[in-house]
Amino acid sequence: MEIRRPLIAGNWKMCKTGPEAVETAKQLVALVRDVTEVDVMIAPPFTALSPVYDVIRESPVALGAQNLFWEPEGAYTGEISVGMLKAAGCRYVIIGHSERRQYFGETDETVNRKIRAAIRGQLMPVLCVGESEAERVSENTFSVLDKQIRNGLKNISSGDLGTLVIAYEPIWAIGTGKTASREQAQEVHKFLRSVIEKKYGNLLAKSIRIQYGGSVKSNNIDALMQMPDVDGALVGGASLDAESFGRIVRFE
Ligand code: PGA
Repeated sequence: MEIRRPLIAGNWKMCKTGPEAVETAKQLVALVRDVTEVDVMIAPPFTALSPVYDVIRESPVALGAQNLFWEPEGAYTGEISVGMLKAAGCRYVIIGHSERRQYFGETDETVNRKIRAAIRGQLMPVLCVGESEAERVSENTFSVLDKQIRNGLKNISSGDLGTLVIAYEPIWAIGTGKTASREQAQEVHKFLRSVIEKKYGNLLAKSIRIQYGGSVKSNNIDALMQMPDVDGALVGGASLDAESFGRIVRFE
């Protein structure tokens, strides 16, 4: 029986100034100090990374970024490199979030380049995939996800995927209050694991962590976590408040 350690991650998106993020991080550390069963990560905006790291560095909470650019440095106005994120204390990086695909022109190809840069730089990538409502209604969910995974992981070998996390985030469930039912989540997670198995074999398929994201709250985390292929959650809105995120981390 495989043992996958759940990862509960908070994506703060474009919310919180540095001081606001520090305050929330302080509250969170106090609330999750004794958590040992799950990995916890928060991804504040870039401007808050360093000050938040100072608060969480000796706690069970790890730091993540919400994006990166694949070049190591240079004339790329407005972009952030892997080296900069690591120097700021990041261990994880969220890649290909649907908001980035939708509003900032990210494609499976740019996602792939970012995943490869993260792996090269030893940041743990959280690859986000998910179907739109129209794609689900037209029964294209599995083909859309298959393509996102295959193209997102193009030319990456199984040996390089040891730290990769997949986040299944149905677009229709993000910020809408509509969570996928735990059965819907389980069905997709199982499918994603089978895609990984076909491409990379049984061992990686069994060890890879697949998080669910989309309106996760303290009142639905427990049900989701009972499903065999759900290995944690990527939480947006409900991670902004330390109390509510703390309850999600403890499945309360
Ligand atoms: P939500 O966002 O929890 O606010 O739905 C999830 C996400 O976008 O990661």
